[in-house]
Amino acid sequence: MKGIPVPAAFIVLILWLLLSFPVIGQGFSSSDDTSRKVDSLIEIHRLNEQCLLINFGYDAVTAINTSKGIVVIDAGISSGLTARYRKIIENEFQGNDFAYVINTHGHPDHVGGNSVFPESGIIGHSNCAQEIAGQWKNPEKVIERLSRIVDQNEVQLLANKPGTLEWNESYTQKIRYLCAYQDAINSVPVRQPDSIFSDSLNLDLGNVRLEMFYFGKCHSSSDILIYVPEMKMLFIGDLFFKYGRPGISDSLMTEKDRWKQAIQWLENRTVHIEHIIGGHGQLLSINDLKDFNKNILRYCSIE
Ligand SMILES: [Zn+2]
Repeated sequence: MKGIPVPAAFIVLILWLLLSFPVIGQGFSSSDDTSRKVDSLIEIHRLNEQCLLINFGYDAVTAINTSKGIVVIDAGISSGLTARYRKIIENEFQGNDFAYVINTHGHPDHVGGNSVFPESGIIGHSNCAQEIAGQWKNPEKVIERLSRIVDQNEVQLLANKPGTLEWNESYTQKIRYLCAYQDAINSVPVRQPDSIFSDSLNLDLGNVRLEMFYFGKCHSSSDILIYVPEMKMLFIGDLFFKYGRPGISDSLMTEKDRWKQAIQWLENRTVHIEHIIGGHGQLLSINDLKDFNKNILRYCSIE
């Protein structure tokens, strides 16, 4: 759209998107095909009696039912999709007392749905609010970027055969970014954490305790670990993936002393951990965790 003045370019873009994707401007209604398709691709996993993992492509939200209310870990990329996850959680747990949302870090695909829980406290590291504010410094750029990603996924979608895994992946990606785009053009505010900590935080929720620890700047500026001893469960956000592959941003390798403390914190708990949940719903093994610890210590020894 070179040469077209910016406001006109946006009008053209919005018109094009309205024509291309009927979901924009209408939201999702339970009667349309898109809505049904989206619902059919939302996966609900019961990790145990009290713990629910909801996935839509790379969107992942976990809910833990405690005697002091429901705790949601990460809130997905958008308010539109997360409103759907919220309904599923309410239905599964037969309740709607959402006590807290915890952000594993401040990236947009983990905090985009915070506003769907207006009654809950939002917990995160003290760098998280700053990180969110930084992402929204230039909303026009955000809108441009999101629309470009939607566009790329639409191209991918057309190249794939409907019903295949590749098609489903492109479809969920397109919908995720489309919903994030909708939030951006509608100026839906991203709620920032209002209960912040800089070192560690323990939460006693009656039948469940949560132990949180700041990892140090690594994948983002606000990565935290969340350990739930009663469930032998560890949440790691985007700190690592299969085979312990770390999600390090090179520009953020400035807190290696903190990394060493975090690895020690993890090693003190490793024998008690049975389930590791990544920030995009990936279920990881103890070996993945051990490999991650080794990889990080290797990074720490390189000055
Ligand atoms: Zn991330």
